[in-house]
Amino acid sequence: MKKAAVQEKKVEEPAKPAYFKEAKIKCACGASFTIGAAKPELSVEICSECHPFYTGKEKIIDAAGRVEKFKARAARSASAPAVKNKAAKKAAKKAKKSTPIN
Ligand SMILES: [Zn+2]
Repeated sequence: MKKAAVQEKKVEEPAKPAYFKEAKIKCACGASFTIGAAKPELSVEICSECHPFYTGKEKIIDAAGRVEKFKARAARSASAPAVKNKAAKKAAKKAKKSTPIN
């Protein structure tokens, strides 16, 4: 009896994801193409059409506005005369110190 019960039990297929031979891929740059994938549709941020490695063009992938922050900081330090004044003051102090010793 036990043996018969085992035979009646259906063999379960191994768990594997469905395969879509022509899954649609959409990129943020606007390019779209089809590839084989486990999902019928995928949206990606970067693809071979727009990745700098393939295009050869410079492209900054700025996730958290870091580039803008850096540029703002650079502009501030370049335009601020405080740094130059400090250097000038130091030079003046040095000059003052050196003159009385003579
Ligand atoms: Zn792309």
